[in-house]
Amino acid sequence: MAKVVLGVAVGVAVAACAVAALVVGRRVRTRRKWKRVVGVLKELEESCETTVGRLRQVVDAMAVEMHAGLASEGGSKLKMLLTFVDNLPSGFPILGQYSMIVGVPPVCYFGMVFEFLSCCNLAALSVSCSCILPWSEKGTFYGLDLGGTNFRVLRVELGGQRSSFDRDVAQQAIPPRLMTGRSEDLFDFIASSLQHLVEKGNDSEQSPIIKELGFTFSFPVKQTSVSSGILIKWTKGFAITDMVGKEVAGVLQQTLARKGLNMQVAVLVNNTVGTLALGHYHDADTVAAVIIGTGTNACYWERTDAIIKCQGLLTTSGGMVVNMEWGNFWSSHMPRTSYDIELDAESPNPNDQGFEKMISGMYLGDIVRRVILRMSQESDVFGPVFSSLSVPFALGTPLMAAMHEDDSPELTKVARILKDDLKIPDLPLKARKLVVKVCDVVARRAARLAAAGIVGILKKIGRDGSGCIRVGRTRSDTKMRRTVVAIEGSLYTQYTMFREYLHEALHEILGEDIAQHVILKVTEDGSGTGAALLAASHSSKSVDNVQLL
Ligand code: ADP
Ligand code: MG
Repeated sequence: MAKVVLGVAVGVAVAACAVAALVVGRRVRTRRKWKRVVGVLKELEESCETTVGRLRQVVDAMAVEMHAGLASEGGSKLKMLLTFVDNLPSGFPILGQYSMIVGVPPVCYFGMVFEFLSCCNLAALSVSCSCILPWSEKGTFYGLDLGGTNFRVLRVELGGQRSSFDRDVAQQAIPPRLMTGRSEDLFDFIASSLQHLVEKGNDSEQSPIIKELGFTFSFPVKQTSVSSGILIKWTKGFAITDMVGKEVAGVLQQTLARKGLNMQVAVLVNNTVGTLALGHYHDADTVAAVIIGTGTNACYWERTDAIIKCQGLLTTSGGMVVNMEWGNFWSSHMPRTSYDIELDAESPNPNDQGFEKMISGMYLGDIVRRVILRMSQESDVFGPVFSSLSVPFALGTPLMAAMHEDDSPELTKVARILKDDLKIPDLPLKARKLVVKVCDVVARRAARLAAAGIVGILKKIGRDGSGCIRVGRTRSDTKMRRTVVAIEGSLYTQYTMFREYLHEALHEILGEDIAQHVILKVTEDGSGTGAALLAASHSSKSVDNVQLL
């Protein structure tokens, strides 16, 4: 009997030990896996590092590439395209405008001779941005904005007074099939939307007076005049092969004629140029424009004599807007991860648009998805790997932003998005926190790189404070002109954390004394409205006014 009891006891003990070993073993394995997941995050953080030193190297690289792109055709990854926009709408009446033209910084009037000369030097770099048309834009003009997720048509009534214009805007998502189909279908769709707007405004289509249109087409275009240009390549998921190499405004003009619309493409511009135009209309200190939306790009006002690749280029204003096409910027100082490399390799345009792929709305969500996928391969805490995580672009940037900005203690929004959109149910809180951290690392890197890009432009035009004179001993005595950068795009306007990281980096790179003179100003729907304003300032009806210069 005692032997039986002993036997049972030993059996139970052995079983208990086996269970315990199993549990401990599983726990050890789970812990090991979790460690690997945390390791993925650590590695990501290290490879996305953007110290201020590194950002300054990116700033320098941007300025160097800008010079190279202006020096020769194909001299840089930055195309630095001429826009033929050599005046910017102002909304100012004549006298006011001339006072702006001579309006070098006030210190020039009061300062010592040394200050005066240095100041004029600085002013010379930028004063041309104030050389704008000496008249106020008036009349009805149309804008058409194509180049991202959405497509907009608008009518702008200009009253000839600063800030006094009425807009009527219609917005539509571009059907994905049109993004990769035939050019005829895409342009038919655009022209029909415009036709609707004209009809809605009781603006007779049969009117003998030709209506003027600013066409914002936000893809790389080799401009041949302010109203014509040839498509170099598609970006942002568009791929309509029969359009590449064609004259874009001409194709639109033909479609408008086919539809019986009495409308003329007065300007063909990039969205950044439209944004700069609207920014300048509201604030004459605006010298550059940046867009961070589906894609990213920037333009700025440049002196014509700095555009070396076009020697002899003469404009009445002495300057011209240059479309940088900065989405294609690349520098070895940019922190690149294996996820970026994979994303690039699997994209329709590998080795292209490197800056854009690290910064813009089309890609950020997908970088995050790739990191979470890697984490899920390291641990079963994320569920089976064949979840939606493996589907390219399953996580859009708005969802990434919503998870990043979830401030609920239990991260309920994160849980819901993971469950509903990525089919990852019941992820424990500690793993949800990891997901938020991934979003943070990816968004922070993007915003800081964008800030470095902006400072790169400021450096090129002498507005980063590095060429400033000091009148006293401290940095706060530095003379800096007020510098406004117009900015548009949902990443900046809708994604608060992104915006805050961008501002933080600007301040870190420039230093507080300089940064306080640099203002980022949101220009709502600048790309469309700005194009209509440019149609006004380049209107054929205004030729007499233009000759006043
Ligand atoms: P577009 O570039 O088409 O003119 P937007 O400037 O609105 O339009 O940018 C659209 C891009 O911004 C999309 O890629 C989208 O994923 C992203 N986006 C839209 N809303 C948000 C948001 N709240 N947070 C982060 N990204 C957003
Ligand atoms: Mg846009």
